[in-house]
Amino acid sequence: MNRKSLKKIREKISEYYEENKVKAPPEIDKREFGVGIKDKINYRHISIPTKKDLNKYLVSESPRFISYSAAYYEYPERRPMKKKQYMKGDLAFDLDHDCPHDTLTCYQCIEEVKRETQKLIDNFLIKDFGFDKEKIEINFSGNRGYHVKVRDPKAQQLNELGRKEIVDYIMANDLITPEFKKNGPKPTEKGWRGKIAREILEFVKQSDREKMKELGINQRKIKDLIERREQIIQGIKKGNYDTLPGPETLWRKVLENRKIQLKTPIDHPVTLDASRLMRLPDTIHGGSSLLANEIKMKDLKEFKPFEDTVIFGEKPTKIKIIKETPKLHLKGKKHGPFEPNEEIEVEEYLALFLTCKQHAEPKW
Ligand SMILES: [Zn+2]
Repeated sequence: MNRKSLKKIREKISEYYEENKVKAPPEIDKREFGVGIKDKINYRHISIPTKKDLNKYLVSESPRFISYSAAYYEYPERRPMKKKQYMKGDLAFDLDHDCPHDTLTCYQCIEEVKRETQKLIDNFLIKDFGFDKEKIEINFSGNRGYHVKVRDPKAQQLNELGRKEIVDYIMANDLITPEFKKNGPKPTEKGWRGKIAREILEFVKQSDREKMKELGINQRKIKDLIERREQIIQGIKKGNYDTLPGPETLWRKVLENRKIQLKTPIDHPVTLDASRLMRLPDTIHGGSSLLANEIKMKDLKEFKPFEDTVIFGEKPTKIKIIKETPKLHLKGKKHGPFEPNEEIEVEEYLALFLTCKQHAEPKW
């Protein structure tokens, strides 16, 4: 990014922080901060003692990126890492998606990540691990995903091994497939056995001919299953799979299909290593100009990442396009496509978005 773009973006960032105070993370004086001007993190080992200091810092330094540690330290500014004296760490998850589509605002992929985030929270963090739902924080990453942090003391005390077990469980790594006979998994069981039983039960209850065919189940077995559906359902409820038609391979197909959907893609290092730095909620992501909003759990479903995060206004603003830009949707409006070297006047929010994405240069 050239010097002029950087300067213009940082002026806007500073103006924003002047008007909008950022909430400090709990125990701010125990956190390590990292900031980025050119890259995501250019400087780290920074300590910011109070909320007031944080907001002053944001206005005066106007960093393009600011991150903080999930870890709490006695001396967050000291280095090397060992001298910080680690105390505890939030259990953090970074859910992201590599978008294969030709757009800068992919609603399809971001929706997919949102569903995974919801699944992680509902099915695993609350249901399986029993973490206090009041102690789970969610925020938009500011670009392509979501961050989840668990501040339940039970989670904060976990060591690296405990964190690894949680990741393995959530991702169903090394899962041993149970035997589907008379004493198979029951839907009421805890852990993966219960999940598998419930998935199969749901499949038997809801699947129609088409869905079964999609799974590669042959006509004869489909007919058998539909005819004896009620009897099979009653069997599974008791953990008895003898009533199921066909050989076990048929059920493995169901299982495989469902298992993938239950898997939660998680960026390992963040969860395992609390010293990694993550975007500070309610700050600007300088690679998109969007806000990394904190999201209340009840609002996650309705959250609109390319509308609710747009913080800049509509003032007509001149830019020059420097990269082929496919059409995109921002703040509920269609924009583009734009060709390189086009000089255009657009809403300020779009000018900043394209400049941060390095698809445009400021002409204002
Ligand atoms: Zn996509």
